Amino acid sequence: MALHTTRPAHGDAGDTDVFASALSEHVLPKLRMPVHSAPPGIVYSMIHNELLLDGNAAQNLATFCTTWSEDEVHRLMNECIDKNMIDKDEYPQTAEIESRCVNILADLWHAPHTAGAPAAGCSTTGSSEAAMLGGLALKWRWREARRAAGKPADRPNLVCGPVQVCWEKFARYFDVELRQVPVEAGATGLRAHQLAGYVDENTIGVVAILGVTYTCDYEPVAEIAAALDRIQEEHGWDVPIHVDAASGGFVAPFLHPDVVWDFRLPRVASVNASGHKYGLAPLGVGWVVWRTADRLPEDLVFRVSYLGGDMPTFALNFSRPGGEIIAQYYLFLRLGREGYRRVHQACADTARHLAGLIGAMGPFSLLYDGQGGLPAVSYTLADPEGAGFSLYDLSDQLRLRGWQVPSYPLPPDRESTVVQRILIRHGVSRDQAVLLAEDLRRSVDRLTGAAPAEARGGFHH
Ligand SMILES: *Cc1c(COP(=O)(O)O)cnc(C)c1O
Repeated sequence: MALHTTRPAHGDAGDTDVFASALSEHVLPKLRMPVHSAPPGIVYSMIHNELLLDGNAAQNLATFCTTWSEDEVHRLMNECIDKNMIDKDEYPQTAEIESRCVNILADLWHAPHTAGAPAAGCSTTGSSEAAMLGGLALKWRWREARRAAGKPADRPNLVCGPVQVCWEKFARYFDVELRQVPVEAGATGLRAHQLAGYVDENTIGVVAILGVTYTCDYEPVAEIAAALDRIQEEHGWDVPIHVDAASGGFVAPFLHPDVVWDFRLPRVASVNASGHKYGLAPLGVGWVVWRTADRLPEDLVFRVSYLGGDMPTFALNFSRPGGEIIAQYYLFLRLGREGYRRVHQACADTARHLAGLIGAMGPFSLLYDGQGGLPAVSYTLADPEGAGFSLYDLSDQLRLRGWQVPSYPLPPDRESTVVQRILIRHGVSRDQAVLLAEDLRRSVDRLTGAAPAEARGGFHH
């Protein structure tokens, strides 16, 4: 029965039991706003209970995103709930803190420093928006150069490996041909020797991924840069690299400082990362940083004066919450480089431990054990035909215990291989990983009809 035909919910006295209230006695309105108001505590309880049907974020091992935060982060987020980060004149400290974060990241990623000049970059809602901005800057710079040379500038392309969907969006939304290089047998991403067949004078850039979504390892950015150096020598095309370091940008500097992937490579023009992934900030913040200010065409920067002041902005959004940016700065100060290293190292160690348990189970063949890239484990069925179950069946079984472990096919041309991937992030303990491994083993037993371990011990006593 629709709520508006019943007695008004505000008729509930303050001491009405939630489950004897007008709101709880009926199916909640789903298509029309109710006519009457309702008491906040009751509405809260109704919605709170409905959300219990969502998966438990702490057991969501599919996501790269932050699912655990300290109380201080919750408090800062709460204190910032009323602040719009775009009102830079009204909230100058939030703007200042955003700029500090950009400088810190530019330094972390070895951007060449110009004394007195702030780093070029900004916060975004996530890596997707950051990718759009990075891609637009590449397109603008390529077009300027083509026009200056009197050449046509109507057929831009972007070369990449098995990218996250944000790059497919960028290409479609902004009318750029996406030249996605297929993954070679045995490889997990773009390889330098493949580039020559795809790059040409209309290539606005190459996207290299630090932390491939499918396999969690790093594409060899330095080798990709060297291959582009050779292409430039041969053809004269100066093709920049944008590094999509959505996850790896906050892992490699701490766990793999010797991997050269960032602005240490002169060909790297820009880098994006998700603050809300291994940056450990709550959901809703990403970052993009350019090597130097001249890599960001002035034409893309808007100066708005109607909020007071004259603030340059480069963003797809306008209004946006400021709390995530503040929380990011909190985490930089709270953890420091040493803290980030310890947090991510603990995750990588747990990933290796879990990989050992999974590898020893029998039916699985490990693809990645969490070393050298993101803290994660991925594996396939050693014998997909003979296993008696699929990884999709296994995902369903694990879901019965609340674990969310995704199964999916690898990207073209390896789509016949189905993999399962478990991300270990801040908040996933060693014990939790061991409990998961036990559930994994029990699930396999159930699927293959083997006697479960408990039964083998005899449950009759
Ligand atoms: C997650 C991810 C993205 C998208 O980032 P959001 O912050 O979710 O918008 C882009 N690229 C890679 C490699 C990713 O892992």
